[in-house]
Amino acid sequence: MKCLICGMEISLKSINVNKSAFLKSNSDSIIYYCPFCGAINEYIVDGDKMDLLSNNKLNDVELKIIEHAMKLEIFNGDFYKQASELASSKEIKDMFSALSRIEYTHARIHQKLCEYGELPLLNKIDYKRYQNDEELLQQAKLREIHAIHYYNKYEGNIENPNVKVILKELKRVEEEHISLIEK
Ligand SMILES: [Zn+2]
Repeated sequence: MKCLICGMEISLKSINVNKSAFLKSNSDSIIYYCPFCGAINEYIVDGDKMDLLSNNKLNDVELKIIEHAMKLEIFNGDFYKQASELASSKEIKDMFSALSRIEYTHARIHQKLCEYGELPLLNKIDYKRYQNDEELLQQAKLREIHAIHYYNKYEGNIENPNVKVILKELKRVEEEHISLIEK
């Protein structure tokens, strides 16, 4: 199986690698989500269909939007990585850690779209000021809301049909992260 959004090959061994980041768990009999980027199963196909992120020619406006989206996803990935170290509950640690890997996958999708050499390293921010799991969850929610606003704000400026589909699905994944965080 292959995910058309992130281009990753999905094997039965990998279907639950990020299960703490999802509301429903994949099983051998039903795959709900791509375990790497969180796309829903309508984007998961058998065989060698071309993924949506290869061979797109982006215009300058699109490039700028995608490059910034890449940085935003890295920023959120970095936050979740640190939050997973700071959180005390095992369940929340696991969730943050899975969310971090998913946000980095989103960053790599954008990296591929804008043909950026490698993922840039952002300034390291210290999140130790957030004292407890409640505060970390609150911050997580704010970051997801920010990402959703970003995608909403710029989706109308994207002309490339494949990129439109990708952004719409990534936005849906972030919306689901809010439901997960609020659970
Ligand atoms: Zn995927």
